[in-house]
Amino acid sequence: MSKTVRHATKSEPRRASTGAPGNGLADETLITHLGRDPLANFGVVNPPVYHASTILHPTTEAFKSSYQRRFEKGVVNYGRMGTPTSYALEDAVAQLEGGYGGVSVSSGLAAITTAILAFVQAGDHLLMTDSAYMPSQNFCRGMLAKLGVETTYYAPRATADELRPLIRENTRVLFTESPGSITFEMQDIPALSAAAKAVNPDIVVMTDNTWGTPLFYKALAHGVDVSIHAGTKYIGGHSDVMIGVITSTEQHYETVRQSAAALGIASGPDDIYLALRGLRTMAVRLRRHQESGLSLARWLETRPEVTRVLHPALPSDPGHAIWRRDYTGACGLFGIELVPAPEHAVAEMVDNLALFGIGASWGGYESLAMPIEARKLRREAVPWEGAGPLVRFHAGLEDPDDLIADLEAGLERFNRARKAA
Ligand SMILES: *Cc1c(COP(=O)(O)O)cnc(C)c1O
Repeated sequence: MSKTVRHATKSEPRRASTGAPGNGLADETLITHLGRDPLANFGVVNPPVYHASTILHPTTEAFKSSYQRRFEKGVVNYGRMGTPTSYALEDAVAQLEGGYGGVSVSSGLAAITTAILAFVQAGDHLLMTDSAYMPSQNFCRGMLAKLGVETTYYAPRATADELRPLIRENTRVLFTESPGSITFEMQDIPALSAAAKAVNPDIVVMTDNTWGTPLFYKALAHGVDVSIHAGTKYIGGHSDVMIGVITSTEQHYETVRQSAAALGIASGPDDIYLALRGLRTMAVRLRRHQESGLSLARWLETRPEVTRVLHPALPSDPGHAIWRRDYTGACGLFGIELVPAPEHAVAEMVDNLALFGIGASWGGYESLAMPIEARKLRREAVPWEGAGPLVRFHAGLEDPDDLIADLEAGLERFNRARKAA
């Protein structure tokens, strides 16, 4: 085992591990062993945390040579460009997902902007799903527009035939997010990717795979070239770190790395360590998030106040067939649409939940509830079809029966406030 996932030693700068992802081992085995080499580190189980800016070289020749190879995987030339600590996390995430390599940056949003900026220039065109994480959309509306890159928003559930007419000669990037992390539409990424690449094989297909995680959605095996993770969420898993990881094919790896280097947005060593530590337990945590999320979702489906549950792992969800075909699991994040009601009725429910925090950054061990103002969803390609208020939930690691009891009391408050209105 330690041979197949061998990592950096002092004497031998770590190079690409290009073996087939997994080497036939199950993900839960890999997640335990990737990104560490105890016997190269006095037997210490976890990899050391290298705090580094300056990297010293024995000769000017060695300095020159490492500089020339600075974008290659495993080369340690300057603190910001990659250390054994960052390579350990990057390789672990990339191998789990089936990518050639990873690049870690200072947040999930930095991963999105770094990935996009790696491939576009003035005059280019980008296709963005209308369901994407709002800061991704805002980046296109603001910064990319300012730099002369035009964005077209497409309907999240667009078929290949519907996407094709939107592809232009100058389209460089097809950006996907499945399911959308607010509205939970599943996208048929393999079909969209095939359609884009049939028009122009150079179009780079990206996905924000934060919901899918490197465990439940092997993006690179589904037509994606560059996959983005807000490691802030399930990889970190404890609401105490901000980090992003971009995994990619061998063809795209150095371009992504150069973009991160040009932007200067390396992640700090202690944050990388927290992410690597979180990764070890991600598989068991996710199993529980999935089970609890589904328990809550199924219970909410039976409630008269809930008009629909937005959760692709439920058979009633319009994206269920795609989820079943391409995903091996679901995380704990899903949404509901309530019967039409005034805003304060939703606040009555959410504000007084005992176990659900009100907050945005999901993926930690705690449960969350967040009202979504449906009318503020900026639907460029297709209008949002729901009439009632939306609430997004993250099922944490609490006992699911306690969570359901909390929600039940919340829905009673919602009913009282709604009827009094
Ligand atoms: C949270 C999130 C991000 C951004 O991650 P940060 O680390 O908070 O910058 C990106 N995409 C999705 C889907 C997210 O939920």
